[in-house]
This record gives sequence, C-alpha cells and structure tokens, in this order.
Amino acid sequence: MTRQDVIQALEALANPQYQESYDNSGLITCDPNTEVTGIMVSLDATEEVILDAKEKGCNMLVSHHPIVFSGLKSITGKTYIERAVLASIKHDIALYAIHTNLDNVAHGVNARISQQLGLKNTRILSPKKDEDNIGSGMIGTLQKPMQPLAFLKFLKEKMQAGVVRYTRLPDQEIKTIAVCGGSGSFLLADAIAAKADVFVTADYKYHQFFDAENRIIIADIGHFESEQYTIDLLQHYLSDKFSTFAVLKTAVVTNPVSYL
Ligand SMILES: [Zn+2]
Repeated sequence: MTRQDVIQALEALANPQYQESYDNSGLITCDPNTEVTGIMVSLDATEEVILDAKEKGCNMLVSHHPIVFSGLKSITGKTYIERAVLASIKHDIALYAIHTNLDNVAHGVNARISQQLGLKNTRILSPKKDEDNIGSGMIGTLQKPMQPLAFLKFLKEKMQAGVVRYTRLPDQEIKTIAVCGGSGSFLLADAIAAKADVFVTADYKYHQFFDAENRIIIADIGHFESEQYTIDLLQHYLSDKFSTFAVLKTAVVTNPVSYL
C-alpha cells in the first residue's frame, strides 16, 4: 500500500473539491508513491506530532488542520510551521490534511459532534447550492427536551470541554441543536433561521456573543474541544480500510489553549 492508496481512501471520505477556497487540504509534503509503514492521525501537524509518528514507525500523518495555509518563501525553521515542514521532509513523514472538505460532508466533523451529543434527525445546517448533502454545520434534535443549564452541563461533559462560554439562557426547555466544529460564527444566522435553540461552536469573540439577541443560546466550547473526536473518526475510518499497517492516534495533545 502506498500513500496514494491512503489518499484515495481519504478522498472517498471527503473529496478535496469540497474544501473552501482559503483551505489547503490534500497532500502537503513528501512522495505519494512511497509505501506506507503506518499512519498517525491528529488535529494538528506540529513538529511534536511528526516526531511522535516517527517514533511509532508511521511515515504518514493525516491531520484535520493543514499546517501550511499560504506560501512559504523560505523554510529555515524560524516558525512552528517551517519546523513542521522541515521535520516532515527530514524524516520522510508525509503530511496530508483533510480539513474543510471533512467539515462539509454529511458524515464528517459535524456528524461526529452530533453523534457525541446523541442528536437525531440530523441534516446539514447550511447546504451548498444544489448539493443537499454537502455544506456547513449540522442541526438535529436531542433525544428529549432538556433544561438549558442541564444541556450545557451535558455538553461540557460529552465534549470534554474545560470551559463552556454561553449567552443568556431562556426559561423553557430546549430541543434543537445546531453544531459547527471550529470557528462557526458565520453560521449563526442559519442556526437562528433553522430555529435552533442552541448553537454549539467555538472561537466566539466578545462582541459576537451579542448577536444571540435572546433568539438562540451561543455555546462556545473551544476549537480543539469541538473537533477532537475528528481524530477518532479518521482513525476508525482508516483502520477499517487498511489492515496491513497500524493507524494510531497521536499521543500529543496539540491544543495550544489551557484553562486555569
Ligand atoms: Zn479547526
């Protein structure tokens, strides 16, 4: 099995053509025709994760976030991005990113969050034109209605969030939940229009919280936290497809944010 075989499987999971224009999903470094010795999966392709892959005999690292987003004019190791690229090439560990294309498919990042919360009747929150099953975010309903505060506690536990930052809670029970892993504020209007009671996402800024306007509860659980189960999704998917080598989750927690 070569890296190209793995790439083909990943493209079947989430076609790179569904990535957003600013994204850089796909193979970022190394030769696609090299035989695979093992795959490591992670959210971020930092140097530490690449060294973890090397230590465990994996010569391919599949991450959600691409380490390289824009052009590099020199690669000397002066930033964490350049150091990751250097380590990848030096140790021949191919970097492959499956980012907004995995956000935009119906069985991707947001389906995994929905599954974690036990949501039913899920559908894409903001489908792309002419493509019902491709688009941003997901919306579904809870198994049964919950009091808002009870839901937030449930959310915190299920998503292993250190902190949940949220807007004003209504008195009545809630049932409809919209989710978007990572930076989802661009979907707030869609979540409100779809009559979601709660919008679970990350990367909210102070002034953006005002946009809730008592029409919805914004619940910010943290970027890493919202996407962490994507690692499991990728590991399960790849280990189902390939049995001749190991597919390992990185032991490195790449979340750059801690809570006190
Ligand atoms: Zn992300």
